[in-house]
Amino acid sequence: MIVQGRCQCDQVNYEFDTEKIISAHHCHCKDCQRSTGSGKATIIYIANKNLKLNGELKFYGKKGTTGMTVKRGFCENCGSGVMSYPKEIPLLRFIKAGTLDDSSWLKIDSTFFTKSARDWDAPNEDIKCYEGNPDIMTNIKSVIKAL
Ligand SMILES: [Zn+2]
Ligand SMILES: [Zn+2]
Repeated sequence: MIVQGRCQCDQVNYEFDTEKIISAHHCHCKDCQRSTGSGKATIIYIANKNLKLNGELKFYGKKGTTGMTVKRGFCENCGSGVMSYPKEIPLLRFIKAGTLDDSSWLKIDSTFFTKSARDWDAPNEDIKCYEGNPDIMTNIKSVIKAL
């Protein structure tokens, strides 16, 4: 299924085939909380080559706890965070699930950084949970296959 997403002003939009996604995760790390202004970010892993992006994103890079620098992309006009990627693995993209026009099809594989999750946005324990970052090595095989 081909799905589309966009920032609030539609200056940046994208599309991809749902069959191409690698995995999907909630991340409660402090950086995700700050950049979303919420209790977590919900992100979809996909290879950059499987993503069609229209428009220009501005990126802000910050070193995460794994030592990798996460470049978080946002629309320069409306400020919506649309997608990010690890600077060290530029062929990968993490799409912010909330920017999809319809995300009802999405299933979450696991939750990262439950240790910084707060009671007002508590992790769903039916989903596999990691206290910190399971780091990319956990599903590196599926990631590499997809890149
Ligand atoms: Zn925008
Ligand atoms: Zn995070």
